[in-house]
Amino acid sequence: TREIHLARRPSGAPVPDDFRLVTTTLPDLGEGEVLVRTDVMSVDPYMRGRMNDAKSYVPPFALDAPLEGAAVGEVLESRAEGIEVGDTVLHGLGWREHAVVSGKAVRRLDVSTLPASTYLGVLGSTGLTAYVGLTRIAEMKQGETVFVSGAAGAVGSSVGQMARLLGAGKVIGSAGSADKVSWLTDDLGFDAAFDYHDGRVSDRLGEHGPVDVYFDNVGGEHLEAAITHLNDFGRVAVCGMIAGYNDPSQAAGPRNMMMVVQKRLRLQGFIVTDHYDLASEFYEKAGAWVADGSLKHRETFADGLDHAVEAFLGVLSGANTGKMLVRL
Ligand code: NDP
Repeated sequence: TREIHLARRPSGAPVPDDFRLVTTTLPDLGEGEVLVRTDVMSVDPYMRGRMNDAKSYVPPFALDAPLEGAAVGEVLESRAEGIEVGDTVLHGLGWREHAVVSGKAVRRLDVSTLPASTYLGVLGSTGLTAYVGLTRIAEMKQGETVFVSGAAGAVGSSVGQMARLLGAGKVIGSAGSADKVSWLTDDLGFDAAFDYHDGRVSDRLGEHGPVDVYFDNVGGEHLEAAITHLNDFGRVAVCGMIAGYNDPSQAAGPRNMMMVVQKRLRLQGFIVTDHYDLASEFYEKAGAWVADGSLKHRETFADGLDHAVEAFLGVLSGANTGKMLVRL
C-alpha cells in the first residue's frame, strides 16, 4: 500500500519536493482495530500550519511519517465490536490508500441517501465550521448583512447559504475568479459578490456594505476592508487567514485597528473542534437543508494518491470551487 510522507518542512509556499510517496506494508490488525480502504480524502488549508514546527492547537506533522487528515472509506477487515466488514466509515488517517485505525476513532456513516464524501464537506466539520462561526461566534441576527471571504471555498460557500437560511438580510461574498463569483450569485443565492483581484477589497466591499458580520477566511487586506465597512457593534468570526499561510514574514495586521475601538467591534477566533456540542443540532438542520436542496455544495476532485499533493497545493491557491477532495 502507499502513503504520503512529509519529507521536509515547507518554507513559504509548499512545493512537491516537500512530500514523498512511500510504498509500505500494513501492520497486522490488533484487537479493537479496523482496516479501511480509503475511498476519498480531504485536503485542507489548515494542514499547511501543521507542516510548520510550531506550537498550535494541534501538534505539527512529523517528518518522514504519513500525513493525516479526514477520509472516508470501506472497512475491509474488522476486529472492533460494532464495526462490520463493508461498513463505510469516517476516520482521521487520510493521505494513505489503506489505514489501520482504532475502532473508537472511526464513525460509521449512513450512505443510503448521500455519498460518503458529503461527510468530509458540507455535512462534516467544514459545514459545522460555517454554522459555529455564524451562530455561536458572530451571533448573527435576523436581517443582518453578512460578508464572507473565501466565499466559493468549502467553508465560505456554506457560510453564505447558511446565513441566508438563518435569516440574514443580505449576503456578500468575495472570491478569486469571475466563474466563482457567478456561482455565488447565480446558483447559491448570494446578494452580491466580487472578485478580490478587481481593485482594492475595501473599494469593492464599499459598493455593497456596510456589514454587521464578517466571516473571515482570509485575513490581511480582507480583514482591514471589513473593519472599515463594519457597522458599530459589528462582529467578526475569525475562522482562518489563508492569505498569510505561506508568508513566513508575519506581515503586519490591519492598519485600522483603532476602528475596532471606535465602532466597538468584536473579533473572535475559534476552532471548530471546541464546538462539537453543536454537532447534533447542526446535523439535524444541515441534513434537512441538503436533503431539500436549500443548501447546495460542490466538490472538486483530484484522482489518485499520486495527485494528492497537487490537490493540496491547489486548495492553497484557489484551484477548487467548493470542497477539495482526492478520490483514491
Ligand atoms: P477553501 O475550500 O476555502 O479553500 C481555500 C481557498 O482560499 C482557495 O480556494 C482560494 O480561493 C482561497 N485563497 C487562497 N489564497 C488566498 C488569498 N491570498 N486571498 C484570498 N483567498 C485566498 O478551504 P476551507 O473551506 O477548508 O478553509 C477556508 C478557511 O477556513 C481557511 O482559512 C481555513 O484555514 C479555515 N478553517 C478554519 C477552521 C476552524 O476551525 N477555525 C476549520 C476549517 C477551515 P480563491 O480562488 O477565492 O482565492
